[in-house]
Amino acid sequence: MTATLIENVRALRPGEGPVGLSVLIRDGRIAAIDPPGAPAGAERVDGGGHLLTPGLIDVHIHGIGGHCFESGPRALLDGLALLPRWGVTCVLPTLYRCMDGEDRLADLADLAAALGESAGAVAAGLHLEGPFLALPGAGAAVRAGDRRWLDRLLDAAGGRVSAMSISPDTPGILPVIERLVAAGVRPVITHTRATAEQTDAAIAAGACHATHFYDVFAPPPEGDAGVRPAGAVEAILADPSVSVDFIADGVHVHPAAIRAALAAKGPRGVLLISDANVGAGLPAGIHATPWGFDVRTAPATAARIHRPGAADHGMLAGSCLTMNQAVANVMRWVDLPAHEVWAMASRYVADRFGLTSKGDLRCGADADLVLWDTSGDAPAALSTWIGGVRVHRTAAPLETTP
Ligand SMILES: [Zn+2]
Repeated sequence: MTATLIENVRALRPGEGPVGLSVLIRDGRIAAIDPPGAPAGAERVDGGGHLLTPGLIDVHIHGIGGHCFESGPRALLDGLALLPRWGVTCVLPTLYRCMDGEDRLADLADLAAALGESAGAVAAGLHLEGPFLALPGAGAAVRAGDRRWLDRLLDAAGGRVSAMSISPDTPGILPVIERLVAAGVRPVITHTRATAEQTDAAIAAGACHATHFYDVFAPPPEGDAGVRPAGAVEAILADPSVSVDFIADGVHVHPAAIRAALAAKGPRGVLLISDANVGAGLPAGIHATPWGFDVRTAPATAARIHRPGAADHGMLAGSCLTMNQAVANVMRWVDLPAHEVWAMASRYVADRFGLTSKGDLRCGADADLVLWDTSGDAPAALSTWIGGVRVHRTAAPLETTP
């Protein structure tokens, strides 16, 4: 039995602001908050008065640090191993092209089988971004709803699909949504030009969340000149049962849209994602992807399709955002207590995606914890624990006594 006592840290509690406390970890879980002392033999970590939060949870991420998850199991595992550097402890690896084509079923099965082998961030299941989408964005699969193909995808993934992105305006999508709900997979709205009526029908069938809201959410065609049409955005904002997430990089969505969603839903219904891909966490550069194009990237902002000599600045193709930067950005853009913004990247994500043991600083929760240096522009992860094991620490280690 291993135990660790993390002492001298600050935590954010609703209505209290930062409070000093200590946290005892045992057997992978939080065993006590403010225990009277350390059990015999426990490792003791002096947190130096820094902020301790639950680990960040990202339900829409394609890759990180030069690794694109759908390139194969090795890239998936190498990427997952890096994520604790940015305080991310749980993800839904998100696949883009892997689901469209007979020859891809084996790739999907290989990736699903590798999820349990992560030595870094926990991969709680796959998020399939497609293939039943209405708008391709930067090359996503676009095809009509097909329950037989859906069943083959779910079978190939061996029950490891947690979420699937769909579009309300995809022909034949309602039976797909119903099948996803029956299989325990969250139907997530995106890549759409749907009308409000189409969106309401998708929600009635079981769609419960919208991902990278505002990005690839084109308005439906204008009817009467000058009359702004209501579409998926308005239908989703109007329905309190549906949550949304944003790529908070300042490029994919204007901060005003985040504030509007918060006004409509409150922070429990507004989550943060990265939609990061291969170039996230790296210096500016050009990176190959398995999607048939290269991307041009710069830290903390968007990735764009790179075509040498092209006159335009390139279509958006995911982001270079890391979740710690997303938290910092939203902290600047909205008028909310800090604990609410952190929860939009942890606790509220766990609540919405059924990750019941994660995202919380309470007894019994998984000991997925991050100690942060909050002195810079964005919080920096000093130490990250996953299941009670410290999987990341900065070069200058915190004081530890045996
Ligand atoms: Zn994506």
